Amino acid sequence: MATASTSDFLVLDGVAKSYGPVQAVHDVSVRVAQGEFLGLLGPSGCGKTTTLQMIAGFEAPSAGQILLEGRALAGIPASKRNIGLVFQSYALFPHMTVAENVAFGLEMRRVPKPERQARVARALDLVHLTHLADRFPRQMSGGQQQRVALARALVIEPRLLLLDEPLSNLDAKLREEMQVELREVQRRVGVTTILVTHDQQEAMALCDRVAVMQGGRIVQIDAPWRAYDAPADPFVADFLGRSNRLLAKLDGGAAEAAGHRFPLPAPLAALRGEVALAIRPERLRILPAGQPGLPGMVHSRVFLGGFWLVRVETPCGDMLVTVQNTGTPPAEEGAAVALDWDAHSLRRLEAVA
Ligand code: ATP
Repeated sequence: MATASTSDFLVLDGVAKSYGPVQAVHDVSVRVAQGEFLGLLGPSGCGKTTTLQMIAGFEAPSAGQILLEGRALAGIPASKRNIGLVFQSYALFPHMTVAENVAFGLEMRRVPKPERQARVARALDLVHLTHLADRFPRQMSGGQQQRVALARALVIEPRLLLLDEPLSNLDAKLREEMQVELREVQRRVGVTTILVTHDQQEAMALCDRVAVMQGGRIVQIDAPWRAYDAPADPFVADFLGRSNRLLAKLDGGAAEAAGHRFPLPAPLAALRGEVALAIRPERLRILPAGQPGLPGMVHSRVFLGGFWLVRVETPCGDMLVTVQNTGTPPAEEGAAVALDWDAHSLRRLEAVA
């Protein structure tokens, strides 16, 4: 039997999918390590669900191949892949209790009753639902139903767990709680997991690595913090949170924008000419007017609990600044200010022709 190293547990090699004239996925290649939690992240229509469906076996690739533990999956039907699935809609059987729902996959696989009962009990314990084993889905909250769906996917001891927007039906607070829980369960079970989501915060909270997709391709694959800190292009920069664009004239080690001269970090020192730089809102500081910095005026400020989001008008366009909540509001609306930053916070977005 073929074997694969643990870093090549799941391999997508040049995978593509077209539906008639629509090319949903182009040439996707990725290697997923055993136990890894990988996110497929991108806006609606970027091809993430199609990619997941091909791994699950509901769609066949038009080109390329998918290998699980070194074996090509082509020709193996979805039901024989031993893959656990959780979707946005919980898809529980309404006429079955929680325990019966969870046991269903084991019955299909003809697992003997005593073993079935033990495994259902373990799966329910894992998602903290032992006390609700005899309830019906309609008697449960959305979050509880999604935990049943997770237990049902895990009880078959899948080689791979595929999650398609599993938390998007839940309200914001519950979603955050479930993110923590999902991450803990995945770690404890150690199952290799692929998550499809359009929610960058969710992908960052859950995943070891995120593959950011655009137009059917992976445009960057990295640890979430690395992709956030060093986005490959303007699309990734914007998709992974707020980002400011600063058009500057670079002349070797230093730059100038709206009359403000500032130093550049070493990786950008060799650049010349007009360059679009990117800087995250939390990397900007608001100083009183007259201090060295990019001049501006506070346009608006919104209190968001842990921090303020301040919009500052500058000759280079509006800049968003997040200011940690220190118990007092930052500068007044209409106040003249200067924006300052550390050179190492600047990233290159793209060269402007
Ligand atoms: P969403 O978050 O909205 O589900 P997605 O990133 O998962 O989006 P896909 O569902 O993979 O995107 O779709 C990718 C592209 O392929 C879209 O343009 C979609 O319209 C198209 N597509 C998907 N399934 C089919 C199909 N069965 N027939 C024709 N086109 C399809």
